[in-house]
Amino acid sequence: MVKRGLLIGRYQPFHYGHLYVVKQVLSEVDELIIGVGSAQVSHTLENPFTAGERILMISKALVEEGIPSSCYLIIPIPDIWNNALWVSHVCALTPPFHVVYTGNPLAHRLFKEAGFDVRAPPPYDRAKFSGTEVRKRMLEGGDWKSLVPPAVAKVIEEIGGVERLKDISKSDKLSYLEPRSSPP
Ligand code: NAP
Repeated sequence: MVKRGLLIGRYQPFHYGHLYVVKQVLSEVDELIIGVGSAQVSHTLENPFTAGERILMISKALVEEGIPSSCYLIIPIPDIWNNALWVSHVCALTPPFHVVYTGNPLAHRLFKEAGFDVRAPPPYDRAKFSGTEVRKRMLEGGDWKSLVPPAVAKVIEEIGGVERLKDISKSDKLSYLEPRSSPP
């Protein structure tokens, strides 16, 4: 039987830490589903990139790394406003999987309660490689490119990602730019 894993994250943006985790998890499973979480959210300080842009970053980075495309699927997963139904929602959008890797405590809890084998992603240098740090350096004019694979930096440059983040940060109504905790 094919052993298929689900790795879920927001990938805002996809950085070297995520790439390390993908490679480690691929050594444990035959096929990997990379779930792009909060797929409906973009253009906020925490979530600047669209699901399509994040899928492009991940696919280009994995091609650049020489990882065969037959090993993985990248699937956008929008949030829903009902945690008790979230695991069913994820399962409805993805092929069957046997093991879940997540760094999000709520996602960990929900999959565990649903009876899945849930594992923490393999550790990497989180102090250095984090989405928060990449976005911070983008805003402050720091060296963000050294934290992401070259293919990701290229996508971010092509879409004007740094300028987008800087424009978003100029708003004085930041609370309205973050995801809602309930539907409109
Ligand atoms: P998060 O809570 O933002 O991230 C948790 C931590 O794990 C961060 O430090 C993050 O680092 C790290 N991380 C994320 N992806 C990783 C990966 N693949 N490997 C290693 N570390 C990783 O949440 P998230 O894990 O990025 O995403 C969970 C998704 O599940 C979110 O989109 C959330 O909305 C969704 N969710 C939805 C519901 C619902 O709709 N009801 C319920 C539960 C969860 P970085 O910041 O560097 O990525």
